[in-house]
Amino acid sequence: MNRKEFLKVTASIAATPTLVRAAVSESTEATGAAPNSYVRTSGPEIWSVPPPVRENPVNTPLPPSFTDGEGWTLALLPDTQIYSIEYQDVYPRQTAWLAANRERLNLCFVAHEGDIVHGNTHPEWLVAKNAHDILFKHGIPFSLSTGNHDLGNWGDASSRQTLLNDYVTERHYRNSARFGLYERQRLENSWHRFKTPGGEKLLVSLEFGPRNGVLEWANTIVSENASIDAIVVTHAYLYSDGTRYDWPKFGRAQKWNPHGYPLAAGGDVNDGQEIWDKFISRHANIRMVLSGHVLNNGTGHLASNGKDGRTVHQILANYQGGVKPDRGFGGGGFMRLVRFNERAKTAEIKTYSPWYDRWITAPEHDFTLNL
Ligand SMILES: [Zn+2]
Repeated sequence: MNRKEFLKVTASIAATPTLVRAAVSESTEATGAAPNSYVRTSGPEIWSVPPPVRENPVNTPLPPSFTDGEGWTLALLPDTQIYSIEYQDVYPRQTAWLAANRERLNLCFVAHEGDIVHGNTHPEWLVAKNAHDILFKHGIPFSLSTGNHDLGNWGDASSRQTLLNDYVTERHYRNSARFGLYERQRLENSWHRFKTPGGEKLLVSLEFGPRNGVLEWANTIVSENASIDAIVVTHAYLYSDGTRYDWPKFGRAQKWNPHGYPLAAGGDVNDGQEIWDKFISRHANIRMVLSGHVLNNGTGHLASNGKDGRTVHQILANYQGGVKPDRGFGGGGFMRLVRFNERAKTAEIKTYSPWYDRWITAPEHDFTLNL
């Protein structure tokens, strides 16, 4: 989304009529569900209620599978850009909730899907840093993937210049069991080994439209860890119709392909299909590829046969302002919780906002995958 589109979106958020608020409370009453219960989440998607402040976030009712004592949770923070620039209270609410519920969730890792900030400016990066400091101080390992908005002047992706490394440093990655970077003191491309009840896992976080050298490096890292399951996170990979970004095939018919941004002028940029061909499809241990970036309805899922016939789940999630339906407050604080159950060989995808204290239970936001 460019700055003009962004201003249009924020204007529409500000103009949301208060009448809608009444509709929400009426529909909640009509369901007869207890306030703040997990069931309440199946109501109509109308989003402009003022955020309730939960005094004790560890009372949040969780889906039954999260309390079975078996699984572990990977949390995903999709595009937080409009929180960083406009609704600064939302972002730390997300990370504070994750920290407060770390034990209940058996939270093992938090991955950011990119577009951390909107305009690559100092005040925004301070908001992001403060939000991630909460995870850091609670000993929770996390990764940050850069999106187009994290780069260049006003987030225009005219270059790969970012203020990310002025605010978040290698020190913040020390909660991972082990980690490494593609370039010294630059967090844009990183790998992490982190502990789960099912043993250590590998997560590889890649920059926006990764360069060829980055994909070569990623190939080496995943090969060196071939005996453990790997998850890859990168900002722009899957489109909202469940196809991978593919510049020769679809061009600008798929909006916001990395090849359509100024930094692609030098040619060293890879989109979803290229990342698949040059990296993902070559490894039998990559189980998931997670991305954000795309507006429209902000969701997508593609299961592909990877090396040795292993299924690779590729999942798009994005809730930022501009995604339909608009959930207010720059995305309403929605994030993904991926619950892995190693015995059942499943991953349950859930969508929760600690800002609204609500879950989205529509099937594209709440589904179970066989691993
Ligand atoms: Zn983006």
